[in-house]
Amino acid sequence: MEFTILKKSTKSKARRTRIVLPHGTIETPVYMPVGTNGSVKAIKHQDVADMGYRLILGNTYHLYLRPGIEVIKQAGGLHQFTSWPHNILTDSGGFQIFSLAPFRKIKEEGMYFRSHIDGSYHMLTPELAVQLQCGFRSDILMALDQCTAPGITEKEAVKAMEITHRWAARCKEEWLRCNDQWDGNLFGIVQGNFFKNLRKESAQFINDLDLPGIAIGGLSVGEEPPVFKDFLAYTCEYLDENKPHYLMGVGTPEYILEAFEDGVDMLDCVYATRIARNGAVFTHDGLLAMKKERFASDFAPIEEGCGCYTCRHYTRAFLRQMFKTNEIMGPMLATIHNLQFMYDLVEDIKKSIDNDCFKTFKKDFLSRYTGGERD
Ligand SMILES: [Zn+2]
Repeated sequence: MEFTILKKSTKSKARRTRIVLPHGTIETPVYMPVGTNGSVKAIKHQDVADMGYRLILGNTYHLYLRPGIEVIKQAGGLHQFTSWPHNILTDSGGFQIFSLAPFRKIKEEGMYFRSHIDGSYHMLTPELAVQLQCGFRSDILMALDQCTAPGITEKEAVKAMEITHRWAARCKEEWLRCNDQWDGNLFGIVQGNFFKNLRKESAQFINDLDLPGIAIGGLSVGEEPPVFKDFLAYTCEYLDENKPHYLMGVGTPEYILEAFEDGVDMLDCVYATRIARNGAVFTHDGLLAMKKERFASDFAPIEEGCGCYTCRHYTRAFLRQMFKTNEIMGPMLATIHNLQFMYDLVEDIKKSIDNDCFKTFKKDFLSRYTGGERD
């Protein structure tokens, strides 16, 4: 994988980079929409591509359970199966087991878990996680890791970190073995819970594995915002700067700005698409809840100046009508707007880094944007 640093900020660690992947070149910072079951929810892949997105995420846990690896292999891989010709990053499945499986047990061999769909038992080993992702023909594959919640003891955190490291090494071995079948790029994941000594140790271990990229896991898992910021900045200090940095599962505008400032290059989150399905849409002044009474005869677009399909064709009043009547069109239109908002935000961030004014951009954006719903 070819990785080039294009530009570095002088006043922060924000940077612009280029990553050459099997299904095309991407420039960072980049935000990745999440396509859990093979689709980004409530939007066609063509519409996602038309906005400019060239890298989306797929969830191995979901795709492994349904439709299963054999169906995806028979289809010719995940790109062909889902009609997405651009890049796909898949996670290892570990995080979903952590958050969805009704039963899970961490063993040296791997993660033993029960499916949330039909109750069947499975063992996800590091080797299987890599084989599945090679079978998907993922452009970026993630190593199997053990994510932990805040509040555990240091002893428990050490145990989870050490198993994450042993699994990462096994993933690397399997990935090298599978290289002749599919030339994807494996990223290792830094863990260490909320212990700085462990975060540092984990970053150094993953750096030393010398994989194509490095991810930060186990953040934004319920900790307070100042803790998130502190641990993110601290962890980023120790990442090999000549590798892409991927912050997993983070995606509110405030957190994205924080992450890019610390030198994160890539991130993904279901936030933009999930809140859209509940009728919440982004504006530069904060979120709007489309179901509210005050939009009943508001014939303005969601946001003046937004170039998305929704804002060019529909009013707030119409969106409210769709959400109030539970029409499928509501989530569809709101998803288009929210993904366009995120895309445009990241494009603006890129420009601000190019012009070396990222910190000013961040300050200006946050002075207007209120995270909560605007009244
Ligand atoms: Zn719009």
